Amino acid sequence: MTELVLKKMNKNNQPKYRAHAIALYSGGLDSILAILLMLRQNIKVTALYFVHYFGKVADPKNPDKSTPYNIAQKFGFKLEVVHLGQKFIDIVLEPQYGRGAHMNPCVDCKIMMLREAKTYMEEIGADFVITGEVIGQRPFSQLKNQMNLVLRKSGLNDKLLRPLCAKHLPPTEPELNGLVDREQLLDIKGRGRKQQIRLAGEFGLTDFPTPAGGCLLTDKGFSNRLKDLIEYHRNFTPNDIELLKIGRHFRIDNQTRIIVGRNEKENLILQKLAQPHHFLCDAPDIASPLSVLIGPASETNFNTVAGLTIRYSSARNKAAIKVVISLNGNLVRELTVAPASSFDYNLKAII
Ligand code: SF4
Repeated sequence: MTELVLKKMNKNNQPKYRAHAIALYSGGLDSILAILLMLRQNIKVTALYFVHYFGKVADPKNPDKSTPYNIAQKFGFKLEVVHLGQKFIDIVLEPQYGRGAHMNPCVDCKIMMLREAKTYMEEIGADFVITGEVIGQRPFSQLKNQMNLVLRKSGLNDKLLRPLCAKHLPPTEPELNGLVDREQLLDIKGRGRKQQIRLAGEFGLTDFPTPAGGCLLTDKGFSNRLKDLIEYHRNFTPNDIELLKIGRHFRIDNQTRIIVGRNEKENLILQKLAQPHHFLCDAPDIASPLSVLIGPASETNFNTVAGLTIRYSSARNKAAIKVVISLNGNLVRELTVAPASSFDYNLKAII
């Protein structure tokens, strides 16, 4: 634990805090700074780190040293990981307050996280909730009227404190009752990052994550694949979402989709994610992608997946190559096919 929170000790040598805040912790710089501003006022913080099925995939070539766990350990606050599960899928399917530029239901998402935080705050007897929001920083969810809407719908009312922009907002309950010193809160506004970076320096925060720009639902390509999935297979599972994160995706017809691995790593992931009813296709004699056929067993579908597999293999310029198609580990077909060309099939590449 840092000396920030250990200044005052009670007679049992336990830290004596002036209040207990629940933080919405995204892992980004703003939410870290909001937490550090509370710790600086000797306020205990329990951070809720929400995860859902549409989180970004970590880049193994660029490992992040400033993970939520490392930051929590370094600065001495408790971290709870909360998976939003099916509840989150439900708001993605039918957001009540619209979407951002793509499939991201940011307002519903914020309301959901704040409601969870409120329930947790009440369960453990904490005093208030904080977020790292800054007025006008994000185009959709952090405009002032959206922030007010989120506040009303969360049910938190004046128990929600936004320490980074608090001075632009009316005083909240913890400020009015003296749990938090309003004078030490900030008045950051807009999209600039200078004040946050200077504050990070003051706190000795050197390894902080770069702004991540939201979850996969803010990504155009991913959103297009998801729209396709919702249109043709609305009762999708978490496994279907994982499959959307990798490969080239092709919509063949209402019932049929093909995913082609783009590299060795994706081939391995596809193999792991494949379900017993998914057909797998590869060309064993050459460097070939692994393809997954999700759809009925028909000669047309087998030929299509075979042609696409060769099209993205090292033999894309060859006349014909052998491919094997299997289901649940059992050989289904062995075919010799030419690589698919753009004109061979009525293929609609989703991405
Ligand atoms: S970007 Fe994703 S995680 Fe962030 S608020 Fe929007 S929907 Fe929620």
